[in-house]
Amino acid sequence: MSGSPRSEHFDDIYFAVEDGLEETKHVFLAGNGLPDRWQNRQTGRERFVVAETGFGTGLNFLSAWLSFEAHASAEQKLEFISFEKYPLSATQIKDYLGIWSDKIGTYLDRLVQVYPLRVTGWHKIQVTDRVSLLLIFDDVNRAIPELRTTVDAWFLDGHAPAKNPEMWSQTVFEGIARCSDHGTTFATFTAAGVAKRGMREAGFTIEKRRGFGRKRDMIVGVYEGENQGSPRQEKERAIKSVGVIGAGLAGTAVAASLHARGLHVELFEKEYIAAGASGNKRGLFNPRFTAQKGPDSDFYGAAYARAAGVLRSLDDISYQPHGSLHLVTDEDKRKRFQGLLSAWEWHSDHVVMVDAERADEIAGIHVGADALYLPDSGSVSPELVCQALARNIEIRIGASSSLEKNGDAWKIDGRQFDAVVIAAGIGSLEYALAEDIPLGTVRGQVTYASATVSSSKLQANVCYGGYISPVVNGEHVIGSTFQPWLTETQVREEDHDQIIGQLEDAIPSLQGEFQPLGGRAALRTSSKDRVPVIGAIAGAKTLYVSTAHGSHGLLSALLAAEVIAADISGETPILPDSVMRHISPARFVERARKKSG
Ligand code: SAM
Repeated sequence: MSGSPRSEHFDDIYFAVEDGLEETKHVFLAGNGLPDRWQNRQTGRERFVVAETGFGTGLNFLSAWLSFEAHASAEQKLEFISFEKYPLSATQIKDYLGIWSDKIGTYLDRLVQVYPLRVTGWHKIQVTDRVSLLLIFDDVNRAIPELRTTVDAWFLDGHAPAKNPEMWSQTVFEGIARCSDHGTTFATFTAAGVAKRGMREAGFTIEKRRGFGRKRDMIVGVYEGENQGSPRQEKERAIKSVGVIGAGLAGTAVAASLHARGLHVELFEKEYIAAGASGNKRGLFNPRFTAQKGPDSDFYGAAYARAAGVLRSLDDISYQPHGSLHLVTDEDKRKRFQGLLSAWEWHSDHVVMVDAERADEIAGIHVGADALYLPDSGSVSPELVCQALARNIEIRIGASSSLEKNGDAWKIDGRQFDAVVIAAGIGSLEYALAEDIPLGTVRGQVTYASATVSSSKLQANVCYGGYISPVVNGEHVIGSTFQPWLTETQVREEDHDQIIGQLEDAIPSLQGEFQPLGGRAALRTSSKDRVPVIGAIAGAKTLYVSTAHGSHGLLSALLAAEVIAADISGETPILPDSVMRHISPARFVERARKKSG
């Protein structure tokens, strides 16, 4: 079996190189009654959910996708969910599976193209218009209790129980039962006692079948326990049209995510595209740093990976993937960055501490401090991102965007929609159902400055509390102020001085040379707890809000768009349940209720 790719963590192979593709078909597809179940599926059951423990090379996914394309009717959709604690790189996947390029070549190319950064978190990827992948880069024991869906078929593939008992734990069996319904099936390559017992106790029948090749036995089964799966979402067929209010990043992104799912979308905007805080010429994309693992890091990790993927794929947005250095400016910051590095558990391809010498090499100038380096970070023009996202959307500029309820539907300026998304920044408070969400604004000014002799050599974004980008189109963008107490959007000279002063203090090698060419000030929306507000408004199932993206709008608004579009379409929630609750507008109502009672 030499030549089969091996896991460095488990002293075990991912698949046998001679016949991995056939083994997948025998064990996981046929073991779950596939593709027959796709061929014989009743109309009205459009979404089929597969969940897998152990994504590995993605061979099972590719093989399921291939079979689905060949056998499922055009209206069916495949949601493939897979857990992976030690993700391989896209290059490793391509190398390992390359031997089957004649059979799976174009599918493999697409997987490699959309494969996310190896960043801990839940990564939802629209692979084709009817196949999606929710790739969960985390320990299955941490992630499965957070999954809210009803699975049709389980692929249990997490190395043999003797080699990897964590993959066959009580937590995993309970998670499987909780996400199963009558008729849910499972298949696994092993017939080990712990798998049999675990699945039986979880509520499945157990049937022994002939294993593949030299393996004598494998097991399959059907769920006969109580129906614990989340109720099947029927929104998909109910919601056909959505009105979106606000054409900043939040609104254009949600419109694009809904449009990609085939829904009718109209975008209503009072002024023009990217009129508010999304209208800067240049914006950096970086995650928000938190020293602990929790809902915030789960949200911003997923958001960062998504932004890196989406921004790379959009045309004409002045995308500059020059990486970002976050300087260790004091001991507190060092502790925070070290805490973050160990808590987040991102692959070192995507985040690493570098010493001052290496930081200088990356920056191309003398920055004089150790730094946390994120090579996939970069900058884009947020204004152009909004325009790119709105490109195929019907848009009504100059709209008054008045909202009325009309039975189960909504009307914006007299036009009727099944659902509405309010993405109007602080203007979201103008809508009665959103008026109690505790929102405020934070003024932010940026300075544009032409390159100096030394700054023209800058090759990466440098962040130090403020930030400076390398020269793009003849100028640097230097940011930014953080002024919750101001509401004016006039550019202020004293703010230019403050912004440049902060830069010169942090990077003395750039001292004394900058002349502002101009700038821009806008009001970012932020919530009382500084967490974005994303999801259905409490008590109004088809009215959604996406706001309070603060100074991380490029990340947060793009992920918010998928959270909302998935919910409107009745898909599996794309983030862990604790994160969904953390960002939900309903959290404020719940907190108030708890306080009063
Ligand atoms: N289905 C894969 C394929 O098509 O290539 C092969 C899966 S391989 C046999 C098992 C996978 O489970 C490995 O990639 C391993 O890193 C992953 N794994 C092991 N323990 C895990 C855990 N606790 N949580 C999530 N994934 C885990």
